[in-house]
Amino acid sequence: MSNISGIAASSGIAIAKVYKLAVPELTFEKTTIDNPEAEIERLNQALEISKNELEVIKENARKSLGDEHAEIFSAHLLVLSDPEMINPIQDKINTEKVNAEAALEDTANMFIDMFKAMDNEYMRERAADIQDVTKRVMAHLLNVTFPDPALIDEEVVIVAEDLTPSDTAQLNKNFVKGFTTNIGGRTSHSAIMARSLEIPAVVGTKSITSDAKKDDLIIVDGIDGDVIINPTEEEITTYKKKQEDFEKQKEIWAQLKDEPTVSADNHHVELVANIGTPDDVAGVINNGGEGVGLYRTEFLYMGKSELPTEDEQFEAYKSVLEQMGDKPVVVRTLDIGGDKELNYLDLPKEMNPFLGFRAIRLCLERDDIFRTQLRALLRASAYGNLKIMFPMIATLDEFRQAKALLLEEKDNLKNDGVDVSDEIEIGIMVEIPSTAVIARQFAKEVDFFSIGTNDLIQYTMAADRMNERVSYLYQPYHPAILNLVNNVIEAAHAEGKWAGMCGEMAGDSIAIPILLGLGLDEFSMSATSILPARTQIKDLSKEELASFKDQLLSMNTADEVEQFIRENTNQ
Ligand code: PEP
Ligand code: MG
Repeated sequence: MSNISGIAASSGIAIAKVYKLAVPELTFEKTTIDNPEAEIERLNQALEISKNELEVIKENARKSLGDEHAEIFSAHLLVLSDPEMINPIQDKINTEKVNAEAALEDTANMFIDMFKAMDNEYMRERAADIQDVTKRVMAHLLNVTFPDPALIDEEVVIVAEDLTPSDTAQLNKNFVKGFTTNIGGRTSHSAIMARSLEIPAVVGTKSITSDAKKDDLIIVDGIDGDVIINPTEEEITTYKKKQEDFEKQKEIWAQLKDEPTVSADNHHVELVANIGTPDDVAGVINNGGEGVGLYRTEFLYMGKSELPTEDEQFEAYKSVLEQMGDKPVVVRTLDIGGDKELNYLDLPKEMNPFLGFRAIRLCLERDDIFRTQLRALLRASAYGNLKIMFPMIATLDEFRQAKALLLEEKDNLKNDGVDVSDEIEIGIMVEIPSTAVIARQFAKEVDFFSIGTNDLIQYTMAADRMNERVSYLYQPYHPAILNLVNNVIEAAHAEGKWAGMCGEMAGDSIAIPILLGLGLDEFSMSATSILPARTQIKDLSKEELASFKDQLLSMNTADEVEQFIRENTNQ
């Protein structure tokens, strides 16, 4: 038995067997063989097993995530059935008498280099497919297990160095009871997705992949951030009880599901949800969300082998808007970069991806990609209460350029007779300190602000949100952060605009009283945080909290702030 602590990333308790998700070592030696026929047979078997696996994965992805996500696996299957790819491997074995591993690697590399060098984006995307699929076949040739989250068909807890957002998107909730990783923080995207999937998770344990072995029994306590490997009978009983208590607590929270969010002194604020896919809307409704405060559209672009078309995007946006009826839906335009990669765009690796060519920076340069998304959004606007915001805005000029493109596409559509709403509010995310500091100037031009504290904190404190070594600096209650947040809210209100927050801080039980007192209008959080937040706000006096404002903003440290809130709000 051993106990490890990490960062509680998604609440709940999971108890199941360990499933290790690690890309295996795929090294081999190039050898000369004397029986090419047997070698080709070995290759064919590896191809066959890979194809069978991909069929299963494709079907699972289709069922849990929809056709568009399943498409990437169709592309992989096509590669494995393409004679132009397979014949040269077999020829190499026959003529050069090399082992199948070497023939596969040489041929795949030749195609990858060739596709990568092409001008045509579609062909460049094929390089990524070949790369992915070759790894699977290679693993089978080398007889090493190639773990696949989408193939899991028994109850497990996933143990991994990290999970990419697309790994997380493939998890089947019926079998994956929880996950725990070495790296990551509460605001890494795998943690955020765990919360929308309602899977308990503990991240940033530093060592779980070496501490836990395949098939060990493991407990993941996503409430307190603990992981217990091979627990004693007594520990199992304790955690089963904790699991039951958590379920009971959820029933109590659920009593406020259809109630508005009002403070003890009768002030209303909006509690809305962050989503990543149209499938997440069910969770928003079940958890009593008053709208969607952040739809992270980049997940439409991920887990695929090519850009989503305008029609595909239109269907996704329309589906979210229709499901939400007249409730507001704030859609954020593409925010790729940082820990969210799109292999098929084939962007050069950067030294500091979080400070690099991402989000609006990429969209303004690749306006073909941006315009497609804007058109899809504008067309969908006829089906509900749409608001659009741009991510990672650092200068007014970026906002003006993005807005101009949006208005240009709106005119184009209207000229073509397409129905587009005239009520769409256009706002920005405040994630960059420069924007928070001159929020007053922005407030004259935007319709609303949504404060993205996940990034705002990392940029203000110069502490990478993914790096558990500097997580001690990732301080939402730091007075510097509170002053920036306050500046944004005051700037919005001075111009009669509204200010929301869609970073994870908005759902944090210490931050909620502070933000209520600062006058935040809209709190956007993981759907599962909405009911606990509504329950908490019911007992808070907004006016009393507002009277603490100057005192809080002039405090010296995050600890002082936290202690003050604990003492003054019965926590
Ligand atoms: C943020 O930065 O606070 C935010 C909500 O955006 P993301 O977490 O997707 O970067
Ligand atoms: Mg962000």
